[in-house]
Amino acid sequence: MCLFCKIVSRQIPSDIVLETDDVLAFKDVKPMAPVHVLVIPKRHLGSLHDSVPGDAALLGHMLIAAREVADKLGLGASGYRVVFNIGQDAGQSVLHLHLHVLGGRAMAWPPG
Ligand code: AMP
Repeated sequence: MCLFCKIVSRQIPSDIVLETDDVLAFKDVKPMAPVHVLVIPKRHLGSLHDSVPGDAALLGHMLIAAREVADKLGLGASGYRVVFNIGQDAGQSVLHLHLHVLGGRAMAWPPG
């Protein structure tokens, strides 16, 4: 079972920020910003590149969850970034779809 599936099934502990029927959001163990939360689907999907049109609702749930996480953690006024890393060149290290929600500091563009 993959790392994030183990977090979903509570075999590995995490600092959960938000949970719905379809989605779990928890704090990144190695934060890259004062606020760094990962939003994942509870159902295993490797990456955005493995998604199909039937996953549209699930992907929408993830984006709404990201917005709710940002509100909950006080990022609504200052702004924040949401990021999917997809595959090797983007540096994806965990092969379970996840959306990074980053905030609490100003960020550069383009990312490295
Ligand atoms: P990525 O590099 O886009 O695949 O992002 C994977 C993220 O998962 C990294 O930011 C890691 O710090 C984070 N991560 C890895 N293991 C855990 C864990 N057990 N709990 C929370 N975050 C984790």
